[in-house]
Amino acid sequence: MNMKIKQNISLKRYTTLGIGGPAEYFCCVKTLSELKQAFMFAKQNVLPVTVMGGGSNVLIADAGVQGLVICVAHDTCVISGNRIVVGAGMSLDKLVEMSVKKNLRGLENLSGIPGTIGGAIYGNARAFGGSIGDMVRQVVFFDCNGVKKSFSQDACGFSYGTSVFKQKQGEMPGVIWQVELFLDVGSNMPWEKMNLRQAIIAYRNVRYPPKNKSAGCFFGNAAAGMFSPNFLSKLPRFAKSQKEIGAGYLLEQAGVAGKKIGGAQIMRHQANYFVNAGSATALDVIKLAQFAQKKVFERFGVRLQHEVRLMGFDRDPFAESCPQVSGA
Ligand SMILES: Cc1cc2nc3c(=O)[nH]c(=O)nc-3n(C[C@H](O)[C@H](O)[C@H](O)COP(=O)(O)OP(=O)(O)OC[C@H]3O[C@@H](n4cnc5c(N)ncnc54)[C@H](O)[C@@H]3O)c2cc1C
Repeated sequence: MNMKIKQNISLKRYTTLGIGGPAEYFCCVKTLSELKQAFMFAKQNVLPVTVMGGGSNVLIADAGVQGLVICVAHDTCVISGNRIVVGAGMSLDKLVEMSVKKNLRGLENLSGIPGTIGGAIYGNARAFGGSIGDMVRQVVFFDCNGVKKSFSQDACGFSYGTSVFKQKQGEMPGVIWQVELFLDVGSNMPWEKMNLRQAIIAYRNVRYPPKNKSAGCFFGNAAAGMFSPNFLSKLPRFAKSQKEIGAGYLLEQAGVAGKKIGGAQIMRHQANYFVNAGSATALDVIKLAQFAQKKVFERFGVRLQHEVRLMGFDRDPFAESCPQVSGA
C-alpha cells in the first residue's frame, strides 16, 4: 500500500470547533486509488469507517473515534461553460468564488460557508434561500466496498438540511466523491454577484466572527407544523418562514443566550451559535446543548434536533433528554 494510514491522530485540528479525541486510524484521500486503498485497509482490519470533509459541522467525542477516519481531500475542479465537475474535497467557498468570477449564477448565496463540497451535499448546505442541492445534476458516490454509484438530483433526495446520503448513512456507508453541477449563466453585470458575495461574507463575519471556534448553528430549525396557528400568528416575521421557526429565536426566547458550561458558550447575539470559548470538551458542549434543548422544551413544548453531526459517541446523547410532542 502506497498511502500512509496513521494511528492515534488527534482530530481537534481537523474540526472548526477544535474539540475531540484521536482517530484510531486516520488518512486523507486525494485520489480514487487512495480511497480504494483506505476501504481495503478498513475491510481487511474489520474497522468501521467515518468520513470527514472540512470538519465544520461535527462534534467529536472526547474519547475520539474508533476505526478508520477518512478525510476527503479530492479537490479537482473542471468548469466548462455552466457545467462544473468538482471533487468532494474542494472547499465550497472556493467553488462559489470561482463560479462568481466566471459569471455563473446559483451558488453565490452560499458564500462564506465553511467546509467542503462533500459536506455541503451531505447536509444540503443552505443560506439566504438557496441550497446546493438546487444546482446539482449528479453525485458520484463510492460505497465501502469501492463500488461506484451515481445519483441524479432526484435520487439525492435533497430537502431542508438533508440528503439521501445523510438519511441512509447507516444503510449505505461510503463517500461522496464527485459532484456535477449546472449553474445558470449570469446577467451581463457580473459585478452584481461579486457585490452580493462580498456583502454576504461581510454579514457572516459579523454573525460568525472568524476568530471563533464553532460548528455553525447547533440545532436545526423547528417545523412550523409543531406550533399552533395562534402561536405562529404572534411571531415576528424574522423568526419564521412558511415551513420553519428559527431555532435561534426559540433558544433566545428560552433565555439561553450567553450561557456557558465549562469552555463551551452560547453567543449572546445568536443563541443557536455555540462556540469553544477556551479549552471546551465535547462533554461541555453536550451538557450546554442538552440544557438549551430542555429550556426550549419547557418553554415551547418542542424538542430541537441537533444539526451538528456527532462522531465517536456510543449513543445520541440528545435522544432521550426530553420527549417529542407538539408545541405551543
Ligand atoms: C461559522 C460557521 C457557519 C456556518 N454556516 C452555515 C450555513 O450558513 N449554512 C449551512 O448549511 N451550514 C453552515 N455551517 C455548517 C457547515 O459549514 C456545513 O454543514 C458544511 O457543508 C459542512 O461541510 P464539511 O465539509 O465541513 O463537513 P464535515 O463537518 O466534515 O462533515 C459533516 C457531515 O458530512 C459528512 N461528510 C462530509 N464529507 C463527506 C463526503 N465526502 N462523503 C460522505 N459524507 C461526508 C460527514 O460524515 C458528517 O456526517 C456553518 C459552519 C460554521 C462553522
